Amino acid sequence: MDRKQTNNDLLTVKGLTKYFETRAGFLEKPTLVRAVDGVDLKVGHKDVLGLVGESGCGKSTMGRSILRLIEPTDGEIIFDSEDVMKADSRKLRSLKRRMQIIFQDPFSSLNPRKRVIDTVGEPLIIHEIAKRRDLRDRVVSILEKVGLSSDSLYRYPHEFSGGQRQRIGIARALAVEPVFIVADEPLSALDVSIQAQIINLLQDLQRSLGISFLFISHDLKVVRYFSERVAVMYLGIIVETGLTEDIFTNPKHPYTEALLSAIPIPDPSTKRKRIILPGDVPNPSQIPSGCRFHPRCPYRFDPCDKFRPKTTDIKGGHLVECHLRG
Ligand code: SF4
Repeated sequence: MDRKQTNNDLLTVKGLTKYFETRAGFLEKPTLVRAVDGVDLKVGHKDVLGLVGESGCGKSTMGRSILRLIEPTDGEIIFDSEDVMKADSRKLRSLKRRMQIIFQDPFSSLNPRKRVIDTVGEPLIIHEIAKRRDLRDRVVSILEKVGLSSDSLYRYPHEFSGGQRQRIGIARALAVEPVFIVADEPLSALDVSIQAQIINLLQDLQRSLGISFLFISHDLKVVRYFSERVAVMYLGIIVETGLTEDIFTNPKHPYTEALLSAIPIPDPSTKRKRIILPGDVPNPSQIPSGCRFHPRCPYRFDPCDKFRPKTTDIKGGHLVECHLRG
């Protein structure tokens, strides 16, 4: 599900699917984990689409599948009019220059044996963006964009704080001048005091460089701050999509409503009823029948466990998959 096609779409994903086979033991039968189960979405030029949902709902798998860091099982990915699924290794390398990722964990995503100049400069050499003699100056200018000085050039990751390491990860992604970045929970491994600095940095870069983002996060406050549109994911599918303010002020899917009810309100005089959902997100190898949210939904009624709801456009591209709205 997603808003209507516009000529401004940079990325169009249709029916994206990623299944994994797992085995509990050597002699056990394999089970199929439906991590991403037929997702449609679009990201426009200079657009920020926030992707939210509980952990284990398939957000990160979707982000990585779009970039083919893991191979999707099925679906269509059109990026800037190019068919990503059909790209051979050479084509994929050139596409990856324009599509980058910022990882969740700045500690494990950097090679501890590489100095900053190598980490940030290597993509410039691989993609033939800079000659070796220009490398230092190019890397210094990229580091300046993320608020690091030239003193960082010949230092190793362990010499930096968590926030500085995430800045290095962002610099590495920016080095190849991408037009689209998947930011996969880029704040969740950082101290709260550092998170605000990094989200402000990402917002400055998004505005000044016009980069489009798929911003994956379980932190709804941050998603509201950074994203123009939001997609809510539950158990491998998108259940609601729309403009950020529409979703946050007028959620139409019971799952979105429950997620938003958990956000603390700064004003103690304002009361909001917290909706506690029973149980955890079900195992993606045992998807419930009908509406996959029905075992936890406070509003479920007769058709919910039998038929999957259709997607309904409530208004102006605010899309919901729920029988209450059909
Ligand atoms: Fe709840 Fe039924 Fe809507 Fe699913 S379709 S979210 S179970 S009301």
